[in-house]
Amino acid sequence: MKKKPLHPRTLSVHAGSEGDSQFGGMVTPLFPAAAYDYRKDDILYPRYFNTPNHRAVAGKMAALEKGDDALVFSSGMAAIFTSLMALLRAGDHAVFQQDLYGGTHHAVLNELNRYGITYTLVDGTRPENFGKAIQKNTRLVYVETPSNPLLKITDLKAVAKIARQHKLITLIDNTFASPVNQNPLELGIDVVLHSGTKYIGGHSDLMCGVVVASQQHIDTIKQSAIHFGGHADAYTCWLVERSLKTLFLRVQQQNENAAYLAEWLKHHKKISRVYYPGLREHPGHAIAKAQMHHFGGMVSFDVKGNADRVVSRLELIRPAVSLGGVESTINQPVKTSHRRLTPEERKAAGITEKLLRLSVGAEQADDLVHDLNRALS
Ligand SMILES: *Cc1c(COP(=O)(O)O)cnc(C)c1O
Repeated sequence: MKKKPLHPRTLSVHAGSEGDSQFGGMVTPLFPAAAYDYRKDDILYPRYFNTPNHRAVAGKMAALEKGDDALVFSSGMAAIFTSLMALLRAGDHAVFQQDLYGGTHHAVLNELNRYGITYTLVDGTRPENFGKAIQKNTRLVYVETPSNPLLKITDLKAVAKIARQHKLITLIDNTFASPVNQNPLELGIDVVLHSGTKYIGGHSDLMCGVVVASQQHIDTIKQSAIHFGGHADAYTCWLVERSLKTLFLRVQQQNENAAYLAEWLKHHKKISRVYYPGLREHPGHAIAKAQMHHFGGMVSFDVKGNADRVVSRLELIRPAVSLGGVESTINQPVKTSHRRLTPEERKAAGITEKLLRLSVGAEQADDLVHDLNRALS
């Protein structure tokens, strides 16, 4: 009989987790060793991304993103930049979506030219922009959807198709969606990147990054990654394996809460605009509906009054950078991710003093509504 494929929810609990073969314990033991017997086929060493706790997380993430293999890094930026440097070489050109995570944007602008790599930034909401930016020496296309902080949507199938016509590698930062809400490899994207510091960790207490792709791309990235030395340590991997077992439980609650809050905020008289891909009036709604399983846990909105005052009046929802934890957090992008932009650049990006970005947690939605309502009135 053909084996029934396991549901991703089941995979999040079981894939990659081998348990404890010595005592029959339910969880992967922590293996902090930095030295292993070399008389084996495969020499184990933490920086080679091949120790047991690393393999457990890589196995789970590969299963959840439907890739062949994965690598776990010490941060999202380590995963992102190692992948870029592994796939690009001097003389190459890359096309990036304009609305990038602040750290990625800064790294692209400040690092790539020093290595003889050129790039073009394009508005990701129109797939044809990627095609227009392709040059003879273009090697890769990099996207991020939903984007930070306005939750803009890039059409992944369309971008993947254009890139394939030109034999380019496509990369996506899938952090905001998490593997629960979007699986870009199924849509034709080649390399999926995550800041595991966010939903994958999910408890605001660890940093890591993940790359998932075909075996061929993982092997290429791994060669450079071993030189750059950005692997996640055993204890972090052990915690991430634990976090991933509840990824679906957490993210599904966060999705539901965010959808509820977006609808509620939309009708509040102190709110002038809500950005949430699940709302029918969101410009990317139709594409989001086609390519995402759910619309995610991030909601941004413009307040009519003073955004600072709203934040300071919240009691349950806490001001913080980062996102994706089970606790709801809020921040003002002009003071966090976009503080280094000039007023003109911010205006062009549509990010004002009135904008707040809410990372919806796993609390009871009514309690969040109550907190927001009190802070807004
Ligand atoms: C946080 C974040 C990153 C960077 O990840 P770190 O773990 O902070 O290095 C990259 N992309 C997105 C979308 C993020 O939110």
